[in-house]
Amino acid sequence: MQNSLFVISGPSGVGKGTLVKALLEEDPTLALSISCTTRAPRAGERHGVEYFFLTREEFDKRRESGDFLEYDEHFGNYYGTPRSWVVSALNERSVILEIDVVGGIHVRDGEREKGEAGVPVVLIMIAPPDMESLEKRLAHRGAESAEQLKSRRARVEMELSTGRQYDYIVVNDDLEEAKRALREIIEREKNKKEVNT
Ligand code: ADP
Ligand code: 5GP
Repeated sequence: MQNSLFVISGPSGVGKGTLVKALLEEDPTLALSISCTTRAPRAGERHGVEYFFLTREEFDKRRESGDFLEYDEHFGNYYGTPRSWVVSALNERSVILEIDVVGGIHVRDGEREKGEAGVPVVLIMIAPPDMESLEKRLAHRGAESAEQLKSRRARVEMELSTGRQYDYIVVNDDLEEAKRALREIIEREKNKKEVNT
C-alpha cells in the first residue's frame, strides 16, 4: 500500500495544532513532519518538538543544498519542510504536513509532476466558524503582540480563499466534531488507496 501526504493548512489560531495532536495520539499509522523555522520559539516551544529553530544562516544553507521539499516566508520568518525526513518517513507511514496553503499547493503540484512516481497528496483546510472565534482563539493563545496579530489577520482572507482549491474543508467549531470529520477524511483516503492498489 502506498502512503500519502496529508497537508493540514488554515489560518494561525484556527486549531490545526490541537487537531493534529489528537489525530497522532489515536493513529499510529500517521507521522508528523517537524518543520524548520527562523522564527523565535514561543513560550513552551522546544527545538525538535514544535519546530527545528534555525538561524537565518543555517536555514539558507539547508535551502541552498535542496534540503527543503518546500519553503516559504511568513511574517518575516522562513519555514521549510525537511525533504529527507519526509521521504524516509513515507516508507513506513503516511505523513502529515502542517504547513500553509502556498506550501500545500506547491507540494501537491510537485508530486503530480512526478507522475506515477509521485506520492498522493491530500489537501485539508481547517476553517474557523467565523472571524470572531478565530480572533478570540488567537488572543486566548496570547503568543503574539498586537502588531503581529494585525499582520496575521491580514493573511487570513488569502488563506481561506486559496483553501477553495483544497480537497477538503473542515470547519473547526465544535472540537469533537472537527476531530471526527478529520478522522473520517483520513480513513476514506486510506480506503481509496487500498481499492486502487
Ligand atoms: P493553530 O495550530 O492553528 O495555530 P492551535 O491549535 O494552537 O491553533 O489553537 C489555537 C487556540 O484555539 C488554542 O488555545 C486552542 O486550545 C483553541 N482551540 C482549538 N480548537 C478550538 C475549538 N474548536 N473551540 C475553541 N477553542 C479551540
Ligand atoms: P506559526 O508561526 O504560527 O507556527 O506558523 C505560521 C505559518 O507557517 C502557519 O500558517 C503554518 O502552517 C506555516 N508553516 C509552518 N511550517 C511550515 C513549512 O514548513 N512550510 C510552509 N510553507 N509553511 C509552514
